[in-house]
Amino acid sequence: MRIARFAKGDGVAYGVVEGESGQPQVIAELAGHPFGIDPAGVRVTGQRYPLSEVRLLAPVLPSKVIAVGKNYAEHAREMGDLFDQTQADEPVLFLKPSTSVTGPSDAIAYPVKLTERVDYEGELAVIIGRLCREVPKHRAEDVIFGYTCANDVTARDLQARDGQWTRAKGFDTFCPLGPWMETGTKPDNLGITTTVNGDVKQHARTSELLWDVPSLIEYVSSVMTLLPGDVILTGTPEGVGPLTDGDEVSVTIESIGTLTSKVVQRD
Ligand code: MG
Repeated sequence: MRIARFAKGDGVAYGVVEGESGQPQVIAELAGHPFGIDPAGVRVTGQRYPLSEVRLLAPVLPSKVIAVGKNYAEHAREMGDLFDQTQADEPVLFLKPSTSVTGPSDAIAYPVKLTERVDYEGELAVIIGRLCREVPKHRAEDVIFGYTCANDVTARDLQARDGQWTRAKGFDTFCPLGPWMETGTKPDNLGITTTVNGDVKQHARTSELLWDVPSLIEYVSSVMTLLPGDVILTGTPEGVGPLTDGDEVSVTIESIGTLTSKVVQRD
């Protein structure tokens, strides 16, 4: 099931996206908030809207976005000096602020006065559905609400200069999420592709993740409590590169959808 969050009048609503891509799709509005409900028992209001006529918002407003560095071997290699070349025996974690999250209808704001190199990083995002901590791998599925596409936008020059990544990863709009949450897929072997202005820049399968989704849930939840709506970014494949003003960057994940963001210059 695909659950989107969208603007409705002065407010916000959730809805189930019906219909396949390339055909007319509609959103069936949900009664209430989707977290905590049994997906089999969702209630709809009876209101339906053409998908093309609603403004989709970020599918969640997380309390935190936990991101994983160096989770595809080829990407770890391409990053050279920014990463230790050896395979870490534990995942590398960092946080992106909740205010970096932006939706599938919004632009990536390129802060030209503060950085000269802003990169895309297409990633599979895991959305947590319930409060949890110390979740063993075999229970990971119980705490996952669904999956969406993410772009871990990064000011690469600041990442190298600062020695830690808070500023490089933390600008407003540097975490596009969307277009919706897919609740019915398995994360272990999904194709992931990033394009810039239609040219393929990254392509991999999530089966190549060094730390798979259950392992990441176990690891992250051994450190911090996860709240409903929290997001784990699973890392980017090789092929990262720069964006410029006016670019259109898309992250497509098999059986989830496509997240497209325009890049606009910001003072
Ligand atoms: Mg990343």
